[in-house]
Amino acid sequence: MSKLDLHCHTTASDGTLAPAALVGLAHSLGITTLAITDHDTTAGLPAARRAAAAAGIELIPGIEFGCDLPYGEIHLLGYLFDDTYPALVARLAWLREGRTIRGQEMVAKLNALGVPVAWPRVQAIAAGGAVGRPHVAQALIEGGWVADTDEAFSRYLAWGGPAYVPRRRLAPPDVIALLRAAGGVAVLAHPAHIPALEQELPALAAAGLAGLETYYGQYDAATVDRLARLAAQFDLVPTGGSDYHARAIKDHAMLGGNPPLPADTVARLRARGQGAPRAI
Ligand code: AMP
Ligand code: FE
Ligand code: FE
Ligand code: ZN
Repeated sequence: MSKLDLHCHTTASDGTLAPAALVGLAHSLGITTLAITDHDTTAGLPAARRAAAAAGIELIPGIEFGCDLPYGEIHLLGYLFDDTYPALVARLAWLREGRTIRGQEMVAKLNALGVPVAWPRVQAIAAGGAVGRPHVAQALIEGGWVADTDEAFSRYLAWGGPAYVPRRRLAPPDVIALLRAAGGVAVLAHPAHIPALEQELPALAAAGLAGLETYYGQYDAATVDRLARLAAQFDLVPTGGSDYHARAIKDHAMLGGNPPLPADTVARLRARGQGAPRAI
């Protein structure tokens, strides 16, 4: 029996379990194929690979990018790329630098709002990982300025909120091209919330999108059904995962708690990739 989870986060970005601990949890839950998809970093992969080899789990290289759209942001997952590919390594470093700068800007906005949260504390919470709003939220909770993550986002950090600052982002076609050049594939993450999904898909498919995250988090049967039909219509591989962060986040399932994925999902993704990296 196979059990797949192709979307989760570790301490390399905004998850709270170290890569090896996450792999250990996956093993204990009977997961046979796991992809770690940290935001803008592959730093968790080496430790995860070692733990997965020891546990007998198949580990797929993964990543998650936030991308620009005129009306907001979509997320693209990358799989099966060469994580040493120089153009990818350079782009990720640029994105993480942007996260650090933006984290400081959010702290400055909070300070101007009368919330004396300190940047060094946020940095300490991120502990060398890619800095994200959940780390700022944690610092706000520790300081007693909000009760929980929900309040941190709804009062300050949510898109358009008083302490919100946008991140450095790439356009979807650029992310898709970068992942393909690195020998991998791109998949549209948690697509059910995208307002005009049907209108966005033709351009993304034409740009080389390989998959649509269909078996996601706590999506219900009707949502899974709708996305599976769209995946078939646009010739995309239906993928899925929990988006587990080991934090309480609305709509996120327990690791492996996503609706079950077809056993041949990774083989189908692999068939859509170009294999070896090429110059970009
Ligand atoms: P960032 O990557 O810094 O823009 O932060 C986005 C991350 O914050 C997501 O990947 C989630 O982990 C988390 N997040 C986003 N919205 C919320 C929310 N309303 N409540 C809790 N966590 C959230
Ligand atoms: Fe996250
Ligand atoms: Fe996401
Ligand atoms: Zn995610």
